[in-house]
Amino acid sequence: MSKTINTGQTVAIIGAGLSGLRCASLLVEAGFSVSVFEKSRGTGGRLSSSRLGNLTTDLGVPFIETQSDDLNNWLAGHPDTVQRWLPYQTDFSLSEPKQLADRQLWVGVPRSSMLTRLLATGVSLHTETRVSVIWPDRNGILLRDEHAEVLGHFDKVVIAAPAPQAVPLLDALQSYQAKANAIKMLPAWVLSVELEERPASLANIDLIEGDHPNGVGQEFSRILRDSSKPGRSGEIWTLQASTEWSEAYLNLSGETVMHELIASLVAMTGDPIKATNYRAHRWLYCDAQAPDDIDALWDADKAIGVCGEWLAGGGVDGAWKSGSALAQMILSSE
Ligand SMILES: Cc1cc2nc3c(=O)[nH]c(=O)nc-3n(C[C@H](O)[C@H](O)[C@H](O)COP(=O)(O)OP(=O)(O)OC[C@H]3O[C@@H](n4cnc5c(N)ncnc54)[C@H](O)[C@@H]3O)c2cc1C
Repeated sequence: MSKTINTGQTVAIIGAGLSGLRCASLLVEAGFSVSVFEKSRGTGGRLSSSRLGNLTTDLGVPFIETQSDDLNNWLAGHPDTVQRWLPYQTDFSLSEPKQLADRQLWVGVPRSSMLTRLLATGVSLHTETRVSVIWPDRNGILLRDEHAEVLGHFDKVVIAAPAPQAVPLLDALQSYQAKANAIKMLPAWVLSVELEERPASLANIDLIEGDHPNGVGQEFSRILRDSSKPGRSGEIWTLQASTEWSEAYLNLSGETVMHELIASLVAMTGDPIKATNYRAHRWLYCDAQAPDDIDALWDADKAIGVCGEWLAGGGVDGAWKSGSALAQMILSSE
């Protein structure tokens, strides 16, 4: 898809996550003038990172493990920004940690959001801008922000938000709105915590995933030493709560979540654990229970499209596939 159409046409993309910026990068390559609107302070969406004191931590997906040759080649082709992480890993029994060389785990360096920063090359990025209205009129497609301020008119518009956040943007396309409305999203609490020292029982472990023998650590779906990824420092750990735990405790405060998950970690390891700094993030839409039969939606008459992991099987692979598919649909309709 390297053909340059050089249309000079304007495209607005709502959402600076992986799907939106994958789509954006292909459209920039083809010569479109692309503006990306993102409600948060930076790029990444569910691949985002955040400051924790003087350090940074990945709050979203902690690494990329892909089945897609296309994504794998793209990741391998940017060694300044993306590196392999080879953690010592085990399950919740904490026994026999090993480095599994056949598992390819990729991380952005020095933080996850570098991946989407790279994909944003050449776009005009507008952060802290929540799009609230998308409406075709005689001057093109009108975008307004949450304060009803006009953001501009565009030739084409791409909605790259999680399904529930796409719903209010799809008034002009009611069949797409119904599809987005039907998607169930699963939540996750994520606690990034800086520890005073590395817990003794985790001295040789960077990643805990998988089985919970005798129910040990059932509160968690994954625990990892964020600081063991390439380009990081400090003693930051990421505790990702299980879907069940997150659903049950969805409305707790961040502080209570921190205390609860640290108490569970103490119970699991038997180590005294002292947190010196933390950030608890509630992902209401961590991942989608998604069909894998659509990839993306494009209405050539209205010139409005939709992409996101929820249209292409979920996860990072779904996001990449969906953003790529939508760019292809747009280019094919030229
Ligand atoms: C903690 C966690 C762990 C995960 N683990 C895995 C894993 O192990 N494997 C895996 O494959 N996947 C995993 N995922 C899921 C994966 O990260 C997502 O499926 C993928 O990143 C989604 O990308 P996206 O571009 O479709 O959506 P997003 O990344 O959500 O991007 C959408 C963007 O749109 C913005 N937005 C929404 N509405 C508006 C609006 N009105 N105006 C402006 N901007 C708007 C949002 O702020 C967001 O930045 C995980 C996710 C999380 C949170």
